[in-house]
Amino acid sequence: QSFARLPLSEAMQANLSQLGYTRMTPIQAAALPLALQGHDLIAQAQTGSGKTATFALALLHRLDAARQQVQALVLCPTRELADQVTQELRRLARAADNIKVLTLTGGSPMKPQVESLAYGAHIVVGTPGRLLDHLDRGTLVLDALNTLVLDEADRMLDMGFVDDIAAVVKRAPKNRQTLLFSATYPEGIANLSRQFLREPREVKV
Ligand code: AMP
Repeated sequence: QSFARLPLSEAMQANLSQLGYTRMTPIQAAALPLALQGHDLIAQAQTGSGKTATFALALLHRLDAARQQVQALVLCPTRELADQVTQELRRLARAADNIKVLTLTGGSPMKPQVESLAYGAHIVVGTPGRLLDHLDRGTLVLDALNTLVLDEADRMLDMGFVDDIAAVVKRAPKNRQTLLFSATYPEGIANLSRQFLREPREVKV
């Protein structure tokens, strides 16, 4: 199926063809129509399925570049995944003007992160512990957040991040879209979903 059937801007459609994204992957075909309508989602998808572009297109759809506030937050299990997600977001965000994507992961010095946050970011991608650290310091503010993504949620649980995830999500506005991606569906994921998602649609491919 082609992306053309989706309610995306012409600039985004052009950018997708330029990137060589001509057909939607199965997860994109199943999840994007629901995500673009604003539904919360639990998507069971592996790495390589095109899951990143799925949540990227959903959050970019809602983003207002003129508002210099963090409007989307992506939680990832590792720095490597956070870097990959940031790259994909930047590729897809080329269709709009000047969208700033910032990566906040542990193991990097705080000071440059604090300075970048002060300069302004529309989208933040990070690992739970470091995100919580910024929230506690007040350097990251989520008042204007409208999309929250939990990427590779099962891996985050395996790595013991459940309390940090809960603490971060509690700082996000209640009125938001939450998209949860996980390769597996253990009980811990069902618990996260019950706590943090609102009438989620489930998508499996
Ligand atoms: P992911 O599962 O998000 O790690 O994506 C795997 C790879 O597929 C990434 O390199 C994406 O850039 C690429 N990709 C995602 N969606 C599409 C698509 N519809 N057509 C072609 N490539 C895609």
